[in-house]
Amino acid sequence: MTNREIFYRNMGLPSTSPMGIEMEKADGIYIYDSEGKEFIDLVSGVSVSNIGHRHPKVIEAIHKQLEKYMHLMVYGEFIQSPQVQLAKNLTDHLPENLDAVYFVNSGSEAIEGALKLAKRFTNRSEIIAFKNAYHGGTHGALSILGNESLKFAFRPLLPDIRFLGFNNEEDLEQITEKTACVVAEAVQAEAGILLPQNDFLKKLRKKCDETGTLLIVDDIQMGFGRTGKLFSFQNFGIVPDILALAKGMGGGMPIGAFVATKKLMDSLTFQPELGHVTTFGGHPVSCAAANANLNVILENELSEKANDKGNIFKEEMENQKGVTEVRQIGLMLGIDLESEKMMDKLLNLFTRNGLIADRFLFRSQAFRIAPPLTITNEEIEKTIGILEKCFGEL
Ligand code: PMP
Repeated sequence: MTNREIFYRNMGLPSTSPMGIEMEKADGIYIYDSEGKEFIDLVSGVSVSNIGHRHPKVIEAIHKQLEKYMHLMVYGEFIQSPQVQLAKNLTDHLPENLDAVYFVNSGSEAIEGALKLAKRFTNRSEIIAFKNAYHGGTHGALSILGNESLKFAFRPLLPDIRFLGFNNEEDLEQITEKTACVVAEAVQAEAGILLPQNDFLKKLRKKCDETGTLLIVDDIQMGFGRTGKLFSFQNFGIVPDILALAKGMGGGMPIGAFVATKKLMDSLTFQPELGHVTTFGGHPVSCAAANANLNVILENELSEKANDKGNIFKEEMENQKGVTEVRQIGLMLGIDLESEKMMDKLLNLFTRNGLIADRFLFRSQAFRIAPPLTITNEEIEKTIGILEKCFGEL
């Protein structure tokens, strides 16, 4: 049987229409299929490959760690240098109150941990989230997912959850002394790159402070330089109580984390002990890769350069046939087309012409441009040439 046949026959698949391209290798902004065709990656594995595929510093860090040890013990028992060094590096670059890191394996798990921490610390049960936000596929994360389409078939989910409109100030009144936490993305990714307006996040922060509610920022898709700052909330003058991270954290390796102040985090350590446990969380090889990844972002000022790169794409995209709106922050763009049908056609043209692109979960007439932040100006020019060719063929 061919790999293609096995893929469709013997693997669980989340969708009836996977891209279904058989991949061979990847390097920088490029992915190559099994027939040697070159693709420019405009998705970055959904904001994972922020420093490009197979960055040499990440590979070196992985090799070094492999020489020492892989998994030794469940999380939080042994002192393991890759975890400790990553915790130090992360907290050195976060606001003062975010000084304790709990390592997990994925975004969904970071959200699960953050929700449990908020419930445990506040002794409250109500959770508030936003319409059209995606936070993951596990039961807790699914419960706070702000779109019925993905969850109607899996009820009952967590009780006591409310959904507010992003940028709807009146809705903030629903946050009360009963609310354990509000979970928000600083920029709503799967809604199609929806930016906060009129200091919405500052108003949200204020309401949380007034009611003793913890603010959880899901920076899983927008973190690690994507928005022009190392962490997306830093664009908007707020600091969360709990920060959820994953995706772009590991330089291509699986890892996630939730971060809070040490006092808050301690509530998972006492009464009961083992308030949250994980076997593979903070895998030493992933942590070594994540540390190298963070250093590459910092040393090459990739966050600082993201806006200039994003702006070049924005200007070009605004002039294309069928484009109705372009929303951009850093090197993350959501581009609306006139119709979903047009989007289908354009995505086919992208694949044919060597671009990996994708739409958003909750905005199907839009596609994203989110290449690795390491993309050079020459590579941007080359990419724009292909984009223009595709729009020309629409
Ligand atoms: N939050 C956001 C904003 C995400 O985009 C995602 C993944 N697309 C998640 C959480 C869940 O992450 P994971 O798939 O690693 O569980």
